[in-house]
Amino acid sequence: MNNSLKSIRKKSTLYLCLIGCIGFGSAQITDAQQLRSLYTTSLTNGYSYQWLGHLSKEIGPRLSGSFNAELAVNYTKKVLDSLNLDKVWLQPVMVPKWTRGVKEFAYISYSSGVTTNVNICALGGSVPTPAGGIKAQVIEVKGIQELEALGENKLKGKIVFFNRPMQADLIQTFEAYGGCVDQRYSGAAEAAKYGAVGVIVRSMNLRLDDFPHTGSMDYGNLAVSKRIPAAAISTMDANMLSSVLTLNPEIKFYFRQNCKVFPDVKSYNVIGEIKGSEFPDQIITVGGHLDSWDLGDGSHDDGAGCVQSIEVLRLLNQVGYTPKRTIRVVLFMNEENGLRGATKYAKVAKEEGEHHIFALESDAGGFTPRGFSFDSDQANFDQISSWRALFKPYLIHYFEQGGSGADVGPLKELGTVLAGLRPDSQRYFDHHHSDNDTFEHINKRELELGAATMASLIYLIDKYGTITK
Ligand SMILES: [Zn+2]
Repeated sequence: MNNSLKSIRKKSTLYLCLIGCIGFGSAQITDAQQLRSLYTTSLTNGYSYQWLGHLSKEIGPRLSGSFNAELAVNYTKKVLDSLNLDKVWLQPVMVPKWTRGVKEFAYISYSSGVTTNVNICALGGSVPTPAGGIKAQVIEVKGIQELEALGENKLKGKIVFFNRPMQADLIQTFEAYGGCVDQRYSGAAEAAKYGAVGVIVRSMNLRLDDFPHTGSMDYGNLAVSKRIPAAAISTMDANMLSSVLTLNPEIKFYFRQNCKVFPDVKSYNVIGEIKGSEFPDQIITVGGHLDSWDLGDGSHDDGAGCVQSIEVLRLLNQVGYTPKRTIRVVLFMNEENGLRGATKYAKVAKEEGEHHIFALESDAGGFTPRGFSFDSDQANFDQISSWRALFKPYLIHYFEQGGSGADVGPLKELGTVLAGLRPDSQRYFDHHHSDNDTFEHINKRELELGAATMASLIYLIDKYGTITK
């Protein structure tokens, strides 16, 4: 720890002690006071929004392997350097590189010369169409399981249109996403087995609009020569295509895309830490993913999680808290199409014999925080649940077992208690992986509340530790 930081921490602690002494007749800061202080600092003197503004507006989308992704690495490293942490470093990792190329083009063809253009985007990792595009009849299905019954007889030479919508009555929209995303991820690999020539997937979006939403897909072990192009279609155009097919199953669909896969390139996880004053070997990780898709500017997914995670360390410093344990911010590279950064981070942690007691990820958008979900044993969940009353003044009430974050997931095998910030998710899929994920859709207060909520949990974990068997 450097001396200037120490003196700032001492001064802030003294100041808070004075307030505590006058107001409550005690030199000890209570947990309730510490949380109040974290929320106040985030809401009145927060940095997360301005950092996100730079990441989104000055740099923009940050697809793994892109020039922008490298700019984002440099920028966030510079931000971490400015916080006077004990250590800041880049962890190298090889990441996939895929480019979209020229904007995709698609239309429905009713008869010769009569067409309607529709909004599509290539799925991440898809192969291109031939240069002249693909034009074929369309078979609409609601899921992969329907393919087998149709068989090669019905599917050969056709474009398969996966049109199962996200389930609207699920309150947890991530559940609705989970119930549909197999079409996007594996639809092309499965359809190709029956001789289909292309795949169009309804966008993972609960709203009806004109934005196509990209996302990762995979061909599994399908031979390269058998791979077929896959694209997402906007929900409005998916509905239109479906209606048109009902009226006339003979219509044809045309699409053209020229995306490309390149060899892997070197990139980095961006990491900074405050060394623990009592138990430096116990590591608490907080993070988000620095890469995004190439549509929009990745503000909600996951620029928000990155700046909130950096803000956690700054807030703890700012309120004069000296962590007992090592608190580390990690901006993971390549969550979207490979999870290479997360895999590398956990691998290095294991090789170095690091003791990771807790890891929190924010990767569900910069919306009003509701609480956290946990992937932990009962004892740790019970301890964390006992802190619920402290969060009540901030309307944080959601403490549930079940899921954390993709990037902290690989730490599970080290016995780490995992957690994910759970913001209100109702609007998340309006934006996710599309041109509609931009900084204009970030609300400053909501973002700052998320950062303070994360900082509060990290503070409590640091102070009380986790329960080990
Ligand atoms: Zn994400």
